[in-house]
Amino acid sequence: MVENLPSTELMVDELKDWDKKYFIHPTTSPKVHAKEGLPIIFKEGKGVKVQDIHGNEYIDGVSMLWNVNLGHGQKELAEAAKAQMVKIGYSSSFIGYSNEPAIRLAEKLVSIAPGDLEAVFYTSGGSESNDTAIKFARFYWELEGMPEKRKIIALENAYHGVTIAAQTATGVPNFHAFSNSHIPEVLHAKAHLTRCEQGDRSDLQYEGCIRDIVEKEGAETIAAVILEPVQGSGGVYIPPDGYLQAVRALCDEYGILLIADEVICGFGRTGEMFGVDQWETVPDLMCFAKGVTSGYAQLGGVLVSRKIRDAFVQHDGFLSHGFTYSGHPAACAVALKNLEILERDNVIGNARARAAELKAGYEFLENTHPAVAKTRAIGLLSAFELYEDREAGKRFDPSVQAAGKIYESCFKRKLLLRTLRAGEGENILAIAPPLVINKNEMEDIFSILDEALTDCEK
Ligand code: PLP
Repeated sequence: MVENLPSTELMVDELKDWDKKYFIHPTTSPKVHAKEGLPIIFKEGKGVKVQDIHGNEYIDGVSMLWNVNLGHGQKELAEAAKAQMVKIGYSSSFIGYSNEPAIRLAEKLVSIAPGDLEAVFYTSGGSESNDTAIKFARFYWELEGMPEKRKIIALENAYHGVTIAAQTATGVPNFHAFSNSHIPEVLHAKAHLTRCEQGDRSDLQYEGCIRDIVEKEGAETIAAVILEPVQGSGGVYIPPDGYLQAVRALCDEYGILLIADEVICGFGRTGEMFGVDQWETVPDLMCFAKGVTSGYAQLGGVLVSRKIRDAFVQHDGFLSHGFTYSGHPAACAVALKNLEILERDNVIGNARARAAELKAGYEFLENTHPAVAKTRAIGLLSAFELYEDREAGKRFDPSVQAAGKIYESCFKRKLLLRTLRAGEGENILAIAPPLVINKNEMEDIFSILDEALTDCEK
């Protein structure tokens, strides 16, 4: 690897210095960054492995931001981008202009989407997709002559992104609160209460469930419910079986649209093409991003159902919504290639096979380390928690920073994980490797974790 090193150490120092001075990092402590600088500069990657600028190799245990589904260094994706860029690098989709990759991708997405989701609007990422879905839900009700249907019900602990509507819908406290920037008419319901959503008012948790909010606010004021099929950044919470179906039935009963945020779940992460496929639920609007290009290009979008598309095409006016990069030709070409590889190489089949090993790995950790608790996994989307006394349900004192310590210890051992900022005192770590991971690499993740836990227990 020596030949790939920068020519002088000075160059690395310069990069680190410039990073500290000029680069404001997302979801990073500016204070710590300004003082200590950055932990890593990535240079290249192959499969589940990434290399830093010094040539150190790490296992990417979380697919970066749960998005590099096909793994790193996938040359076919790079070639697809290049082939498109040399033809036409950018073209607009406004005023009906179009391009071939965007059209072909729309057809492909509709063909793999569940139910009657039959047209797509493109964005550049997940937050834009959720803002778009919220606006589309309200626009739909305006077109239907019910402009008072505007309220959005989201779930506690949801993560929907950082643009202002998506941030308001987000229920993870620190992200929700940032800069106190919110849109009105967004409410939060308690998550994953199947019996309550089925109408069991005797359930002690009924107050604050979606159904309770609908009854109190009046369905005539509510545009949509938005949820992640599996909550991701809020802590990886998998709904009980029957929950999604119950929310779908509730929305149908009251004439409310259902928005599924598939930004993490989409394109194989849970072991099905889409998270909603796990529970055979068809939303009215389905937001996607991340895995549609495996992170190789910035692309997101919203798939809409037949009735929404029908309402749009009856409308005499303009659809006054759109991003410069809606339907970006190179991003769409990358997405098309990404979906082709996903199917050609049976990548979702691999994710399912590895999911069994992931569960076995968690079982081993729970049996070996008393601090490991509440392990949960669906496909290759998973998390575990750390408790001082799991039987008694006693958490570590926050000053211990248990999850942070395990993260650091894994980092030193060249495994990248992610701590999730959940509620006070919670110590949650996520594992969500690229879907192309093999058996040995999965074993490596758990042997590193085993060592890290043993080390920290000392
Ligand atoms: N929705 C979900 C479920 C996400 O996990 C994320 C990002 O992690 C977003 C939306 C926001 O996506 P983006 O960061 O591309 O705006």
